[in-house]
Amino acid sequence: MTLDNILEEIKKAENIVVLTHETPDGDAIGSSLAMNLILQKLGKNVDVVITQFPKTFSFLPQAEDVKNEIEIKTYDLAISVDCATLNRLDGKELFEKAKRKIVIDHHGSNTMYGEINYVNPVAPACCEILAGMLEYWDIDIDIDTGSCILTGIITDTGGFKHSSVTAETFEFTAELLRKGVNVSDIYYRVLETKTKANFELLRIATDRLEFLEDGKVAFTYITEKDMKDVNAQFGDHEGIVELARGIEGVEISVFVREREDEKAFKVSMRASNNSKANVSDICYIFGGGGHPKAAGALVKGNLEEVKEKIVQAIRKVAKI
Ligand code: 5GP
Ligand code: MN
Repeated sequence: MTLDNILEEIKKAENIVVLTHETPDGDAIGSSLAMNLILQKLGKNVDVVITQFPKTFSFLPQAEDVKNEIEIKTYDLAISVDCATLNRLDGKELFEKAKRKIVIDHHGSNTMYGEINYVNPVAPACCEILAGMLEYWDIDIDIDTGSCILTGIITDTGGFKHSSVTAETFEFTAELLRKGVNVSDIYYRVLETKTKANFELLRIATDRLEFLEDGKVAFTYITEKDMKDVNAQFGDHEGIVELARGIEGVEISVFVREREDEKAFKVSMRASNNSKANVSDICYIFGGGGHPKAAGALVKGNLEEVKEKIVQAIRKVAKI
């Protein structure tokens, strides 16, 4: 059983590095910090490396100990959480150099780039996989670990609203609540709190939102200049893609964010709840991926070119 092998590898290792995907979201951060606590409980020396740590999650246990710079060394074991491909892994050099490599993830598009891969594409969050692992290993989930895990579950399920949510998700949350995890506080912090810059970007993006393909596609964008103008920090673009998701008739919401250094735009795509469109398939055309209802990619070109490429890809793949 893969979970037995994972525990065996952890027990054999002394120095372990925990890595996750670039531009990390709540599930990436929650999984990394939960894994950090679990490994410490097992008596390991752990480094968590995340080069861009969003301020929203700095309330989580040991967030202040996360390493923001990649310092090349050889770890006994590298564990990647919530990351579908080696290419997207923040600190991939450390993963490649590590003596042993484990991947734990919930993306259907995972390329199985570890030596041991524990991938469950139906899990609503990577954090929920960790909860199952702890149960299997008979390790108690304390309030700190539970808070990290709940952060990933709440963010990746959009606050328990996505169809990926199962009875177990609620049962697990109820158990955490009984133990003393402040579910309401975490919910408000990770989903209902905005920085001023985030609000300003939402305002700009709302103003620019346009409807394409007979109103089935909503498109908006943010430039690097916008981000400078509002003094945006990393993570302040969160939530923009969700703006149009619930608008009547919209099946696919597209948000693109300028990446001047790459002469490209980072694309975020969401499908509405009742749409048959698979946005992961659309993003795959550009070398990206994700989940059927939430995916992303990097698309080269200026704004007009990128918009046109995306519309063409939607026409080709989505059949909306
Ligand atoms: P977001 O739009 O929130 O950045 O990402 C939505 C989902 O798509 C997440 O599961 C994220 O991991 C995935 N995703 C975003 N960008 C990329 C990308 O460039 N490549 C791949 N493979 N997945 C991505
Ligand atoms: Mn995730």
